[in-house]
Amino acid sequence: MFCVKCGKEGKTYSALCPECFLQSNHFTSVPEYIDLNVCAHCEDYLMGKKWKHYDDELEAVKDFAADNVMLRHDARMSDLEIGTERMDAKHYRVRMVAHLVHEDLEVVEEMETTVRVRRNVCPKCNKIQGNYFESIVQVRPSGKRFSDEEREAVLNRSLSYVEGVAKESRDAFIAKVTQAHGGYDLYVSTVHLGKALARDLVSTYGAEYKESSSLQGQKDGHDIYRVTYLVRLPPYRVRDILLINHRLYLVHSTGPQSAKLRDLKSNEMLVGMNSELREVNVVGTKKDVVDVVVLTETDREFQIMHPTTYKSVEIKKPRNFERTGETIKVFPYEGELYFIGN
Ligand SMILES: [Zn+2]
Ligand SMILES: [Zn+2]
Repeated sequence: MFCVKCGKEGKTYSALCPECFLQSNHFTSVPEYIDLNVCAHCEDYLMGKKWKHYDDELEAVKDFAADNVMLRHDARMSDLEIGTERMDAKHYRVRMVAHLVHEDLEVVEEMETTVRVRRNVCPKCNKIQGNYFESIVQVRPSGKRFSDEEREAVLNRSLSYVEGVAKESRDAFIAKVTQAHGGYDLYVSTVHLGKALARDLVSTYGAEYKESSSLQGQKDGHDIYRVTYLVRLPPYRVRDILLINHRLYLVHSTGPQSAKLRDLKSNEMLVGMNSELREVNVVGTKKDVVDVVVLTETDREFQIMHPTTYKSVEIKKPRNFERTGETIKVFPYEGELYFIGN
């Protein structure tokens, strides 16, 4: 075979020797200017059709430039080197060296482009700004009022749950939070997320929830509903002390159907159905529990120093309990001390 252009003999590519072929063939191209959109609120970058988070803008610029390289179908890229130079706050000059393979030819091509960073608003932030929501999760206390601490804990739990979901889905967000009826109203982006959040609160706190929906209008011939989830938290939390039929119980754990309780007299564990604990009397919280010094310890009991009289008193020790420090926790109630734990 010989080159139709220069007549050189040897292997040809489209009837040309390698030198003549590469003079007239280019495998890569990139536009002179490309616009990279960054959201002015969440600072995510638009890559193709997806908004993505970058810790460093330079990395976004490099990815964006690489994404905009057009490659001829008959070549394959084996490597792409990217160098960036910041021109000003919004412009980057990007130089790229592409290492390509065409049939058995190894080709190196250089390209240059300017990335213009444009501030914009992503659809998610646009919705948040417009107070967009499809469901409301109403979190309410029952029996007693939330303490400030508790209320904050419940809110943080809700926010971090949504944050976790938001890592996987840009559709998940809370548009706003308002205080209402001693609790919170959380305005949630989707019905699906509202339900998932309500269920998470139900299983974490042993809450009960009710769902109701109202017609908001129509979109593309379909009815649009807004769904409200009323989540009523029980009057107790884990580590609270309950009085049931003249006996004291420590709330060991809470769940979607039932709570685990420890009888503070016998130290036996038992299960209480959430539905039967709605009106329960909470007589103590972890703030009412006190540390007492252990004087001596046997298999069956502790001898402790009474927290107010400083006299030595005995308290029953549960089987298999192992003390970790110099003190144990007790709950004083109507002149008696009840063993709580470490
Ligand atoms: Zn030639
Ligand atoms: Zn955004």
